[in-house]
Amino acid sequence: MIKNQNGLFGQFGGSYVPDFLQTPLKELEESFFKYIDDPDFQRELQYYFKEYVGRENPLYYAKNLSSSVESTSTSSGSGGAKIYLKREDLNHTGAHKINNAIGQALLAKRMGKKRVIAETGAGQHGVATATACALFGLECIIYMGAIDTKRQELNVFRMELLGAKVIPVNTGTATLKDAVDEALNDYAKNYSNTFYLLGSAVGPHPYPVMVREFQSVIGREARQQILSIEGRLPDYLLAAVGGGSNAIGLFHPFVDDESVKIIGVEPGGKSDKEGDHAASLCKGEVGIIHGFKCYTLQNANGEPSPVHSIAAGLAYPGVGPEHSYYKDIGRAEYVSVSDQDALKAFSLLSKTEGIIPALESAHAVAYAITLAKTLPKDKIIIINLSGRGDKDVQQVEEMLRDTKKI
Ligand SMILES: *Cc1c(COP(=O)(O)O)cnc(C)c1O
Repeated sequence: MIKNQNGLFGQFGGSYVPDFLQTPLKELEESFFKYIDDPDFQRELQYYFKEYVGRENPLYYAKNLSSSVESTSTSSGSGGAKIYLKREDLNHTGAHKINNAIGQALLAKRMGKKRVIAETGAGQHGVATATACALFGLECIIYMGAIDTKRQELNVFRMELLGAKVIPVNTGTATLKDAVDEALNDYAKNYSNTFYLLGSAVGPHPYPVMVREFQSVIGREARQQILSIEGRLPDYLLAAVGGGSNAIGLFHPFVDDESVKIIGVEPGGKSDKEGDHAASLCKGEVGIIHGFKCYTLQNANGEPSPVHSIAAGLAYPGVGPEHSYYKDIGRAEYVSVSDQDALKAFSLLSKTEGIIPALESAHAVAYAITLAKTLPKDKIIIINLSGRGDKDVQQVEEMLRDTKKI
């Protein structure tokens, strides 16, 4: 049985939506709780995780990275820790997002919905959704801010190759927020045949619980893997936090293990100034955004603040309700890492291990390096390597071209 069936995490989460969305969300909630415990649904989900996504993926001991930290450690003789990487970057389509897209698309099929809609900013969730829809023969509509469609031309083309229809949204600021509004309008009109596939552990109930359940495969695997490799639980779990889905996926199966310290890493961006970062938990206040309560970055009028991160997938002015709760009760700690430090970690992991991480994941790697320097060698850290960096290579090349600080 799943915890948080009512969608509340302390004071966070819930469902703050207009009346016209109550009916479809209720239907979704009932279907999700029905199928998630259905052995036939689980069999189908596990089949696609294994045969299509390529699970389970390795929990890799990053020996070179670990010893490079050791050699630069300040306290001589100690420092270093054993750093393990949970290799979500090896999944089909290159990140953890496919776990959730497959789960929700299978649910859509069970619910008899033949049409799937989603919104996307950087395009990664759009690509994962379009992939799952191609696989299951579902019609796929992706709403995307017109500005984002220009910034992410290749991802638009990818989605189109996969058979999705990408609709550029020209209203408002023509970015993610406006794409969300358009998708919600569509959902309200068409929910009898349409499934809204949300990409992170955010939004109104039941999305945060549902996305967590589909992503928890990460933590369940990691838990078994570390027990079989090391014979004990890890000391630390680290993951980058945008909306919070890869992080909660790793963290959740360890929440009751009190000895395991949990740290979420937010995008510290360029500076602490409003608009220069997206560190909702570290720097935000409690508020309501997109239908749920969480720590959020808002201006004086209660509107979402502009946000920035070198990693487009982390730039969101809210965060999952479960993370907000863990911060309040002290079960997890949340820290931030700057663009520059994420970039350094991006290069370091590439050079030491031959693994180019997503810029999002590089935030968690950067904090692991800082943390490991302060720890005895026998401590174990697991980093969720949420995605691979192929998508970021061109951006990083442009940033580093002048300085050659690679
Ligand atoms: C989208 C994305 C993230 C951030 O989303 P979460 O919901 O916080 O996991 C992190 N890493 C990668 C590779 C992503 O694509």
